[in-house]
Amino acid sequence: NLKGKTALVTGSTSGIGLGIAIELAKQGVNIVMNGFGDVEGPKAQIAAHGVKVQHHGADMSKPAEIEAMMKFAADNFGGVDILVNNAGIQYVANVEDFPTERWDAIIAINLNSAFHTTRLAMPYMRQKNWGRIINIASAHGLVASAGKSAYVTAKHGLVGMTKSVALETATTGITANAICPGWVLTALVQKQIDDRAARENISVEQATKDLLQEKEPSLQFTTPEQLGGMAVFFCSPAADNVRGQAWASDGGWTAQ
Ligand code: NAD
Repeated sequence: NLKGKTALVTGSTSGIGLGIAIELAKQGVNIVMNGFGDVEGPKAQIAAHGVKVQHHGADMSKPAEIEAMMKFAADNFGGVDILVNNAGIQYVANVEDFPTERWDAIIAINLNSAFHTTRLAMPYMRQKNWGRIINIASAHGLVASAGKSAYVTAKHGLVGMTKSVALETATTGITANAICPGWVLTALVQKQIDDRAARENISVEQATKDLLQEKEPSLQFTTPEQLGGMAVFFCSPAADNVRGQAWASDGGWTAQ
């Protein structure tokens, strides 16, 4: 029973993070939201499930702001029982053309932020002898694509960190696992579809079909709701001994 526990979901103002926050809220989990853009709309969607929700706008590329967010969670919710490291960005370019500032931002937001939240959440989880760390990696945490060296590096790193943390906590009630989505139709992927349509002078509809065809045998997007369901499973007693895994929902992408 997850009722009354608290989850911090980084990057939960949109997309996958919001979907996960909503599915956890359906289980009675209070939510510390984080992320940019519109806050009130997504906050209302979470609060509709009768849980306590507060937003902290920490920039995940800034360790001092992450520390402030963790203190905010401790002060307002007692601590973080379920940590979902989800905030992430993408940039596509070949390595020799990759802007060094974009490389640093991707490593900071997609990888380093999870180190900071995890180290700061751990003392409370150890004290409770219960905790769930769920890292939103990617199919790109398991295999690579051209043009995504920074993202692939960060996501493989995140899967590696998940395994180390799982081993450090193996004899406790704390588990750490990663979820590896294939394509999910969020703002992050819509931009790649729009870029593809413009680059190849094709319709957005055709670009969407081509994007799926290229990587995903199911030809279907995974939904944020489905990923939320996986997160809820990781939080359930059935998953008490699931440790250090990287579970894909990728329509067969990494089975090829
Ligand atoms: P999205 O752009 O819809 O959401 C990203 C969220 O992160 C937003 O809430 C945004 O405000 C927040 N964010 C971005 N930079 C931030 C920063 N510096 N500090 C704090 N918050 C920040 O994208 P999404 O597709 O929902 O992506 C969520 C996660 O899922 C990312 O880690 C992404 O790599 C991963 N993922 C996405 C897909 C996909 O197909 N969409 C596939 C695999 C993995």
